[in-house]
Amino acid sequence: MENAGETRTAKTNFIKEIIDRDLSEGKFNGVHTRFPPEPNGYLHIGHAKSIVLNWGIACDYNGKFNLRFDDTNPSKEEEEYVKSIIEDVKWLGADFEDRIFYASDYFEKMLELAVELIKKGKAYVCDLSAEEVRKMRGKPGEPGVESPCRNRSVKENLNLFEQMCKGEFPDGSRTLRAKIDMAHPNLNMRDPVMYRVVRKPHHRQGGKWKVYPTYDWAHGLEDSFEGITHSICTLEFEDHRPLYDWFLDELGVYHPRQIEFARLNLGNTVMSKRKLLELVKEGYVDGWDDPRMPTISGLRRRGYTPSSIRSFCEEIGVSKYNGVIDIWVLENAIRNELNKTAERRMAVLDPLKLVLTNYPEGKTEEMEAVNNPEDEAAGKRKVPFSKDLYIEKSDFMENPPKKFFRLSPGKEVRLRYAYIIKCEKVVKDGNGKVKEVHCSYDSSTRGGDAPNGRKVRGTLHWVSAPHAFKAEVRLYDVLFTSREPDKVEGGRDYKESLNPGSKKVVNAFLEPSLKDARGGFRCQFERQGYFFADPKDSKPGTPVFNRIATLKDSWAKIMKRN
Ligand code: ATP
Ligand code: MG
Repeated sequence: MENAGETRTAKTNFIKEIIDRDLSEGKFNGVHTRFPPEPNGYLHIGHAKSIVLNWGIACDYNGKFNLRFDDTNPSKEEEEYVKSIIEDVKWLGADFEDRIFYASDYFEKMLELAVELIKKGKAYVCDLSAEEVRKMRGKPGEPGVESPCRNRSVKENLNLFEQMCKGEFPDGSRTLRAKIDMAHPNLNMRDPVMYRVVRKPHHRQGGKWKVYPTYDWAHGLEDSFEGITHSICTLEFEDHRPLYDWFLDELGVYHPRQIEFARLNLGNTVMSKRKLLELVKEGYVDGWDDPRMPTISGLRRRGYTPSSIRSFCEEIGVSKYNGVIDIWVLENAIRNELNKTAERRMAVLDPLKLVLTNYPEGKTEEMEAVNNPEDEAAGKRKVPFSKDLYIEKSDFMENPPKKFFRLSPGKEVRLRYAYIIKCEKVVKDGNGKVKEVHCSYDSSTRGGDAPNGRKVRGTLHWVSAPHAFKAEVRLYDVLFTSREPDKVEGGRDYKESLNPGSKKVVNAFLEPSLKDARGGFRCQFERQGYFFADPKDSKPGTPVFNRIATLKDSWAKIMKRN
């Protein structure tokens, strides 16, 4: 694991202010946080925010950070997700050392505590269906209706609960409910369900359990068992806090402090696990790690670095306000990093043949190219140059508008690291389409220097046609055209906003040095963007590149589309 602590900043936030106060008042002696994912999907950038926040706080206070699987629901959870989550958390650099826990390992202990509540007369077995429970819960400002089973004797409750645990009742037929207050202003306090009958095997426990705890019953206990000091969660759990407190108070066990913050919403994507699963299952994307997905595995495959994701999380900070962060904020995090660290290369994505008519036939020169203008230590490399070149189609216009400083008939441009050239002739095919441009080069301008007084505004990247090689390059764009796909107008499905142009595959011509690029290699294609050799599809000698981000943000373009 890389040294992730290096990218941390000591930025403060409202959560740290609460912790500072707790520590100075002696409420807690140290700091112990956790990340508690449910293994029912792959992690996404929202989870990254929670991981970086929790782990970062543990780092800042010299405390501890746990990874805990909240694996209380056997019907949607799978081992595949557990594996991917561990991999993603480690990749992000959040070090949980040997503290990896599973809520399912606490099932026994939770059951004992549930029995304790029954014995105290604080929990009862209820025969109502889920639908009836919901109906009788009432509304805000309107009390609920008590269950006819509410006043069962402790003895009867113990018996029935034991039978539930043995699997003697059908799924969903009975629940164990906390006996709190059916008229409580907070709906979460109206006799919430603690256990339901689900006679399904669990991915780690096998067929041992016939009842499973609800999130509300289990979550606070998990934090309590692990001695978590600050239980940091998203805003929707604010209303559940009184319930967690009630459980822990009734049981007389250790209490963490819960602090809520606003979840991350990112523009032009969706973050709900259900929707991400749907995109994968129905083939709208090529799997959980499709580089267009907001999943950690997708971002990793796109070419994002762990440090760029951590800086993004630090940059956006934490608040109590639910907003949407624009996707360019995330892209800028990787741009800023790769601008400093990535070597430059030349690649032509949409080629147009360019012939230097006065350049000797069969001659090759080695042009010296700077690997990274931001980092002298990256050194230089040689790029072959010859009579036949490729330039980008968009760098030539036969009838250019006024401010077009690239190539057009009669005009001069500089070829990066090579010569100043002048467009002499346009060669067209039978349909009148430009097939080739013929130029002359000025041999006195080697290296690209313009003699005194000569104004050459445009500099183009190029590759030498006989030396370049063809490679698959994938140009990715936002997955959804709408900034908030969940809110597309008229109640239409979020999938209607899928961007048909989110993946474009081109056969590009790359400079020969890229032939050695192994999966995992990152670089800047000059004037194009940052690219990543796909770790799955690249083979030695035939790299496949994913575009991580364009050079400048294309935000203006995205806004126009909306
Ligand atoms: P579910 O709907 O399945 O509960 P979830 O996204 O809440 O989805 P969890 O596995 O419960 O998934 O999330 C693990 C942790 O990540 C929780 O503590 C949750 O608060 C946090 N988390 C989830 N989504 C976000 C988000 N968008 N921003 C910040 N934190 C998040
Ligand atoms: Mg959740």
